[in-house]
Amino acid sequence: MNDSAQPQPYRVLARKYRPTTFAGLIGQEAMVRTLTNAIAADRLPHAFVLTGVRGIGKTSTARIIARALNCVGPDGAGGPTAAPCGQCEHCVSIAEDRHVDVLEMDAASRTGVNDIRELIDGVRYRPTSARYKIYIIDEVHMLSTAAFNALLKTLEEPPEHVKFVFATTEIRKVPVTVLSRCQRFDLRRVDAGVLVRHFASIAEQEGAKVAEGALGLIARAADGSVRDGLSLMDQAIAHAGMEDGGEVTETLVRDMLGLADGERIYDLYDALMRGAVSEALDIFGGLYSAGADPAIVLQDLLDVTHWLTRLRLAPEAAAVPGIAEMDRIRGGKMAETLSVPVLSRVWQVLLKGLGEVRNAPSATQAAEMVLIRLAYLADLPSPAELAESLRGNAAAPPASSRDNGAAGPPSAPVAASGAAPAPSAPGGSGGGGARASALRQPQAEFAAPPEALAPPDPGPPAPTGPQNFAELVALFAERREALLHAHLVADTHPVRFQPGHVEFRPGPNAPSDLATRVAARLRDWTGAQWLVSVSSDEGDPTLQEQRDAAAAARHGAAVNHPLVRAALETFPGARVEAVYEREAEPPDAAPLPAPDDDEDDPEDGDPVS
Ligand SMILES: [Zn+2]
Repeated sequence: MNDSAQPQPYRVLARKYRPTTFAGLIGQEAMVRTLTNAIAADRLPHAFVLTGVRGIGKTSTARIIARALNCVGPDGAGGPTAAPCGQCEHCVSIAEDRHVDVLEMDAASRTGVNDIRELIDGVRYRPTSARYKIYIIDEVHMLSTAAFNALLKTLEEPPEHVKFVFATTEIRKVPVTVLSRCQRFDLRRVDAGVLVRHFASIAEQEGAKVAEGALGLIARAADGSVRDGLSLMDQAIAHAGMEDGGEVTETLVRDMLGLADGERIYDLYDALMRGAVSEALDIFGGLYSAGADPAIVLQDLLDVTHWLTRLRLAPEAAAVPGIAEMDRIRGGKMAETLSVPVLSRVWQVLLKGLGEVRNAPSATQAAEMVLIRLAYLADLPSPAELAESLRGNAAAPPASSRDNGAAGPPSAPVAASGAAPAPSAPGGSGGGGARASALRQPQAEFAAPPEALAPPDPGPPAPTGPQNFAELVALFAERREALLHAHLVADTHPVRFQPGHVEFRPGPNAPSDLATRVAARLRDWTGAQWLVSVSSDEGDPTLQEQRDAAAAARHGAAVNHPLVRAALETFPGARVEAVYEREAEPPDAAPLPAPDDDEDDPEDGDPVS
């Protein structure tokens, strides 16, 4: 079949395998069922409108409808049927495009009112030989307004012997007045798996050798269209006949479709997930000089991400026919080491990056920036790890979601490279050895969070009662003295504190007996005498004011934190809603300097012992 010489005019596959029955329509079961039911029940509309993307089988369907309505069966005595016989004179001549009562018009080339007038002029005459006169108008949305109006008149009072079948890719451009007189049938994009099976069976009938991975690529490129897929297969078979000893290989199809080298895409993905920036940029450079479009590379990375996520969630997806060997094997391995949260973040970055690449003055530069962001992102902790780290006690870069599954704990490569202790040596870890240290800088900062993010050191509680004003207030919360607690938080400016002696300036909303009541409770709870006095000194801001200020500072610091900035860039539309501070851990773990806000207040009494 695919020998180099073509002795007779070659019929393209799409035409040769054009479906002639409803059963032959691939992947349109729902529409076929509705149509079949309508025909069987003899509830035939005067006008059908078929809609769906191009190449999906609308005109084929229109012709099958024409056959179904006009078929008389092999014996010439049958009525309309959902299973046209394919043998009677009507079936045969419709299939050959030469039935006098089936008139086809392409509205894309004949949009004017006169074209329509000419066409529907014949509506009033009875069909010459068939049961129905059938008008098939393709791309009906292209008709001019005047043409639609002319058509509408006929649609309003159609003669019994006339049926219209409209086809359109853009149903929304068809006037509602027209649509309301039609029964609508939607043709779906055909599922890639269905396409693969269909194409495989056609390849077999053609005696062509097409690798399964090649079928998968063709099906994917066809994007749901049987016709597009078949014309790709035509091309591929023609190429293979000339070059490759007749077999359509995955590589051949990849070249034909201008897809980047799949193996290299996986290499790139792997480098990115390892954070090996310069290696990744090298691979990208190679792909680019080999002719790959930067946007296509990102698109391919998106495909890999999607595929890995599917594999991660349902490993059996690898067994579906049409999956390329490489996707099955390399993808399978990679999916084992990447978590779904990481994959989703990669997806977000790629998706946003793809838009940037398409709009940037230099697509290459934009793509490189996206890759750098990705390499960096793969290293970022997950939100859970981030929260953990923000407690200030997790200095080590999180590695759980990285691809080190087989390599063991991250300390191994560090030790091998002879670098400083792991937590403080962000540049020394990782297997790639090609990390750009500048890119890793934020990781280092992250290991020692800015002061604003560090919780204040509360000090160990002494057994004798509260050791500072905050502890005193906390005690009121603990003892369920909600009202007093509220006043202490919002209406009390601490002036001096030492165990047994508290001095504060009450705010305007504080009750006049606040000091007395606080003293009484403290005595009850600690068993010691507490002197609580009111001062006219300015004192500190209330706890509430301090918290508000701290929250504002935290928010500001959080928003400006490199990690958070990266996160905000990564997830378009994300905002910092709130900054939560975990309860502080015992302070001995934290070698951080004490927060200076508390220390350099001259008024503040030192914690006297
Ligand atoms: Zn027939």
